[in-house]
Amino acid sequence: MMFDLKASFNFSSDVSLIKNELDTFIADFNKKILLKDKTFNIKNVKIDKSNLSFNIISEGVFRPHNALLQMKNEISRNFGKKNYLGIREINIHNYSINFDLEKKPLKKVTIPFADITFKDKHATLILKNIDKEFLQHNYIDRMISRIREKVANHYYEGKSEFWKPIWESEEKKPIWTKDPTEEMARLGWLQQGPTKGKWFYRSQATTIIKTMEKIAIEEILKPLGFKEIISSHIVPFEIWLKTGHMEGMPGEFYYIAEPSTRDKEKWERFVDLTKITKEIQQDELKKNLATPTSGLCYAQCPVIYWSFKGKTISEESLPVLVYDNTAISSRYESGGRHGIERVDEFHRIEPIYIGTSKQLINLRDKMLECYKHVFNDIFDLEWRMAQVTPWYIQQAGEIGDENTQDTGTIDFEAYMPYRGDRKKSEWLEFQNLSILGDKYIKAFNIKAQKSALWSGCSGIGLERWTTAFLAQKGLDPEHWPKGFRKYLDKLPDGIEFL
Ligand code: ATP
Ligand code: ZN
Ligand code: MG
Repeated sequence: MMFDLKASFNFSSDVSLIKNELDTFIADFNKKILLKDKTFNIKNVKIDKSNLSFNIISEGVFRPHNALLQMKNEISRNFGKKNYLGIREINIHNYSINFDLEKKPLKKVTIPFADITFKDKHATLILKNIDKEFLQHNYIDRMISRIREKVANHYYEGKSEFWKPIWESEEKKPIWTKDPTEEMARLGWLQQGPTKGKWFYRSQATTIIKTMEKIAIEEILKPLGFKEIISSHIVPFEIWLKTGHMEGMPGEFYYIAEPSTRDKEKWERFVDLTKITKEIQQDELKKNLATPTSGLCYAQCPVIYWSFKGKTISEESLPVLVYDNTAISSRYESGGRHGIERVDEFHRIEPIYIGTSKQLINLRDKMLECYKHVFNDIFDLEWRMAQVTPWYIQQAGEIGDENTQDTGTIDFEAYMPYRGDRKKSEWLEFQNLSILGDKYIKAFNIKAQKSALWSGCSGIGLERWTTAFLAQKGLDPEHWPKGFRKYLDKLPDGIEFL
């Protein structure tokens, strides 16, 4: 890497009189930094009245922009009192950064705050319009990382994700091969909701979903000692910044706009227009809405982690086992929407666990046992488990590999007979289970008295449980497996519409 920063300081008065002193000072400063970074060099030092200009070059760890700010402070300290002068302005004229990538980019790459050009694997970054604030932040190194990430992603795109089967049930003969959502809609058990990707569940579909919820709680969460909590389902961006969701899936959130005021006078015109036109006047509405600073729950775990932020958990409370069954998840699924299995609004129970690595690995085994009991003995499903790329690696646009699996995510997938042949068709991920190491523990600064902590979570998607079950077992309770019928063997009567 090669950094070349051309900058100048504008002093409060003429510095040409102390040229020699400044030259010596800069030479000494250069020597001092050379001890930390052998490639560091300040050159082209020029003094013109109140202006001192120079280039700072480095190929090593000491970044010129950090040196620039340090140099400014030291000059102010040294010459400020003695010579009654101060640095009024720092001007950055040009900052070019040259570095090599592992592989050459396969398509155009852009980055905010800079122009970038490539010669094969060699990248040249020219920063423009930058000021002191820009340099004080750690933007430059992050820009370089982002470029590396973007180019690395060119090589991932199109490749299939890491996916390694780890367990498979035996084949089960499906009762039917219809799409359960279509059939339920036809029978009036549910109907499309008022907006995209939402459903209105009537009592028959609701009863089935609620049965799934009951089974999850009675057969998995309670026996393992999970305690219910109620979290908020409005998530401020700061939380998603910490979990990585903000950079991972900004196009999948439902954003929330608060009113910018409750003042009746400010809303008067909007009310008038609504009463007169009987339409929503969007332009008028926008005037009274604040820019979003939060979104609807995407998964429950971020807010749950936030609730432990900065806390030290006593050893006796470990492992912490909690679950949220209240917050509704919202995701903008766009073209991927299908039936009740890929919706924009879904009901998910999310258990999360915090404990030592040993406790969590032990817990994972116990959870897997419970899950197997439900899917084998109660649902009698044809399903499988696969080790996959953890979502936080996925969201960085990477596909993961064997190395990312020591912690990692297990996907649970069900055969969906309506999609065709079991070998060729895509199975449905109906839930997952992750152990995420100390990623969120660190992000939220969660501590234990003594132990090092890990955390993890599992997403129990009730619509997905429902559709996986119904896709294999049909809609007639008479044909449902005995284990399930213990929980539900008769559906409520529906409403007759004329
Ligand atoms: P997919 O790859 O199917 O989009 P995902 O990896 O986005 O799933 P996660 O973020 O891991 O899903 O969420 C965990 C669980 O939440 C899933 O296993 C599933 O049960 C449920 N889920 C996720 N997205 C949806 C959706 N759009 N509709 C219904 N359930 C969903
Ligand atoms: Zn989670
Ligand atoms: Mg998804």
